[in-house]
Amino acid sequence: MPNAVPARPAKVPISPPRVSSQSSGRKSATPPRFSVEAERRDSPEPIPSEVASPPKSGLCTVYLPGETLHKFMRIAAVNTERKVETCGLLLGRKTRNTYTVQSLLIPRQTSDENSCTMTNEELVFEFQENRGLLTLGWIHTHPTQSCFMSSLDLHTHSAFQAMLPEAFAIVCAPKSNPSFGIFRLTDPPGLQVIMSCNDQRTFHPHPDKPIYTDADSGHVRMMPELPLEIADLRNEF
Ligand SMILES: [Zn+2]
Ligand SMILES: [Zn+2]
Repeated sequence: MPNAVPARPAKVPISPPRVSSQSSGRKSATPPRFSVEAERRDSPEPIPSEVASPPKSGLCTVYLPGETLHKFMRIAAVNTERKVETCGLLLGRKTRNTYTVQSLLIPRQTSDENSCTMTNEELVFEFQENRGLLTLGWIHTHPTQSCFMSSLDLHTHSAFQAMLPEAFAIVCAPKSNPSFGIFRLTDPPGLQVIMSCNDQRTFHPHPDKPIYTDADSGHVRMMPELPLEIADLRNEF
């Protein structure tokens, strides 16, 4: 290996999340250029009070519309058939002690069998700024592989979780059983291990520690009645 240290990892699928809609001087005067599948209903927050208390982990609860997986897999179907990945961002808002996913945003992207790289990120920033939406999680397919977090996924996710401890990653692996998982890095040690890992290879091993864990038995809760808005930036222009 040469001594020069390139920016890592070589393939970064998705940028670190933007956790504030006010944190940038980026101009937002241009009209939105995304298409939105209008499926929002009248009540934005149908959350039963009995499940609204914070979980023991110290993390705020994140409510995820129950139809998220089904809708994403439908959007990803063409790519999945071609055996290439698809990625999306799960955006939402914070209300009191809870986060609620409201939008599934499909960024422009390039992908292959084992990775997915977001492009034209300015369109994502614009979408989020116009609506004041936070990045709460991300979702991607493993068309041919099992349901797990690859080392590339772990590095991608560490940036999200470093910005927002509640951030979660959904992996959809339709050829596998289980066919999906909702994950987060353990903290400690997973987040620290990944953030301090300097391995430059796109895929590489990590120490034999509990690096990541299920989030859906923790702070992420599926809520069947929650609406989900879909925006697909790939359809523009
Ligand atoms: Zn992956
Ligand atoms: Zn690493």
